[in-house]
Amino acid sequence: MTKPRYAPIQYLKGVGPKRSLAFEKLGIFTVEDLLYHFPRRYEDRTNLSPINKLEAGQARAVKGEVLAKGGHRSWRRKGFSITEAVVGDASGKITCVWFNQPYLQNYFQVGDSLVLFGKVERYGKNLQLSSPEFEIIGKDGDDALDIGRLASVYSLPEGLTQRNFRRLVNSALNEYLPQISDCLEFGLRSRNKLVNLAQALRSIHFPQGPEAQDQAYIRLSFEEFFLFQLPLALRKLKKKEKAGIAHKVESPLLEDFISGLPFELTAGQKKAIEEIKADMACPRSMQRLLQGDVGSGKTVVAAAAAVIAVSGGYQAAFMAPTEILAGQHFEKIKNQISKINPSVPLRVDGEHSRTVKYQNREIKIELLTGSIDKKSKMVKLRQIKNGEINLIIGTHALLEEKAEFKNLGLVVIDEQHKFGVGQRALLPQKGPNPDILIMTATPIPRTLAITLYGDLDISVIRELPPGRMPVETKCLEEKERRQAYEIVKGQLRQGRQAYIIYPVIEESYALDIAGAKKMYDALKKDEFREFKLGLVHGKLAQAEQARLMRKFNDRELDVLISTTVLEVGIDVANAACMVIEHAERFGLAQLHQLRGRVGRGHEQSYCILLSGARTPGAQARLAAMVKYSDGFRIAEEDLKIRGPGEFFGERQHGLSELKIANPLTQMQLLKRAREEAIRLLNVDPRLEERPHRLLKEKLLQRFPEYEELMVVG
Ligand code: ADP
Ligand code: MG
Repeated sequence: MTKPRYAPIQYLKGVGPKRSLAFEKLGIFTVEDLLYHFPRRYEDRTNLSPINKLEAGQARAVKGEVLAKGGHRSWRRKGFSITEAVVGDASGKITCVWFNQPYLQNYFQVGDSLVLFGKVERYGKNLQLSSPEFEIIGKDGDDALDIGRLASVYSLPEGLTQRNFRRLVNSALNEYLPQISDCLEFGLRSRNKLVNLAQALRSIHFPQGPEAQDQAYIRLSFEEFFLFQLPLALRKLKKKEKAGIAHKVESPLLEDFISGLPFELTAGQKKAIEEIKADMACPRSMQRLLQGDVGSGKTVVAAAAAVIAVSGGYQAAFMAPTEILAGQHFEKIKNQISKINPSVPLRVDGEHSRTVKYQNREIKIELLTGSIDKKSKMVKLRQIKNGEINLIIGTHALLEEKAEFKNLGLVVIDEQHKFGVGQRALLPQKGPNPDILIMTATPIPRTLAITLYGDLDISVIRELPPGRMPVETKCLEEKERRQAYEIVKGQLRQGRQAYIIYPVIEESYALDIAGAKKMYDALKKDEFREFKLGLVHGKLAQAEQARLMRKFNDRELDVLISTTVLEVGIDVANAACMVIEHAERFGLAQLHQLRGRVGRGHEQSYCILLSGARTPGAQARLAAMVKYSDGFRIAEEDLKIRGPGEFFGERQHGLSELKIANPLTQMQLLKRAREEAIRLLNVDPRLEERPHRLLKEKLLQRFPEYEELMVVG
């Protein structure tokens, strides 16, 4: 007999080639897939209530026979239909109603036995079950899988009922479970008090009770976490093994850089720099994630790392997701390093470069983006290749094939979530084995960060630079728009600047851009005619966006109307207020990022959310914005509102592999799975020993991209 891992689903009795297509749509190709297709939820049918014992307000399961059925269109509301059935058991009868599901009328017949589960409501003098879930059960008494127990409820392949599906799963369990081997070895299971796989699979589908269900859930979640952590732990292990650069970190250049800054570093920044120094000094390659809330000052930490790399004779590359941001980093860092040693005259070559001579060591910084003209790009590329330029700030233009480095020693990736996983991996390949520093402003709880970035070390900057005042945030409705404008004008008259943000969503891109333009024209003519306005949106060339940004930065514009191109990184300290139009259309993380554009100076700043939020989700997001300013707190709220799947969206593919495990509610289990993964890899890094073979097979099946990692050295 074929092992269940590979037995195609169509060989299972009751499926067949035609029906197997419907299974495949749900990702069920083999019997194993079926066994791992876990119930969506359970219905407690342990105790069926006698119908005459039902009370209004309860959610209850009952069993009964259909005594009568009927349906009609509502005469009160057009296009509204009602299906009714009277169901009775030995104790009494009750009416069930379903709204707008006319097809239900043909679904069951008078005389059918039903199990119903739903809320009991009072309707006039009588009780009724309103839109209950129901299932037709056999009259042959063959209902041990369906009633008198916790009944599993699945996402179903088309054309199957819950009852059919349960039977299929049950026969798959009976036939294949004896041959299923456990990918978690005995020792690991007993250390962690996990039930074996056969038991877990049976209990997850047909739990004997809440305790068995719980144990199954824990065991299967652990397995998911474990498989998810293994490749991360392996990658980390291998990177540790791989030779990297031992940078010389005690550099007078670094000391001068830090003492030349116009501010004192915060404790968090200092700690992060220390951690980075330790990594860089070590002859293995650094893989570090720098997390810090918006405005916490990550850039200067990265710049310090760059100074270390450069002062030891290596090149450093700093990649930002947009041209605006790259340009701004360039200006800022150029400015900061120009102060390194003021006694040394600056040699200025061209508009964009500045050289600091220092003990035979020069920092020559350049900007490389997609929109610079071809000729100067060629020149820069040549200088990067021959090592003349040693600090390169850029966009993904840095990833182009033509960009070659002489001796790339450090890669910094800013706002990493804006890059694809593939893009992120490319830049480090431009050097022998450069140190890597990744920065993100999406703060997430530490354990969760470990799940996602388990192959990275993590530094966190918790505090903001001193003197920042929390941005005063208000949520106003459309009819209070005037109030919003008054606040903005008040600020502008004090010489401060403002952003007005207009959302653009992909589905209505053209419409939204038109909306932003229209608003710009209207405001310019009327409300804000005494001020200078600019409009930036994603349809403008990146260079044009950067030009407008620069104008805003130089205070040539008072108000910048913008779509979400502003979302990341931009830093203009004089901008004191922001209005966000249609705030309900933004996600919470995005709102927080946007708001982070103001409140960067020492004076009170304002953020006004204009919205007509109706849905509870949108209202919860806006309420969280008004209430909290700490990014970590906001991320937690966001996770609560959306759940981890949506929170991380499609960006972090790993998490979508988790079908049953939830990193938020099972952090302890996750931690243990991670520890076990590390423990295992220390013993058998290539999973070659006999008890680990199955694990390896499963792992590669799930993450084929790790093949290479497992095989090579
Ligand atoms: P983010 O972490 O969001 O990338 P930035 O690096 O852009 O934040 O820093 C935000 C602003 O704070 C910048 O203008 C930066 O110069 C300033 N800044 C950074 N560190 C400090 C500090 N220790 N004290 C005062 N201002 C600082
Ligand atoms: Mg930043």
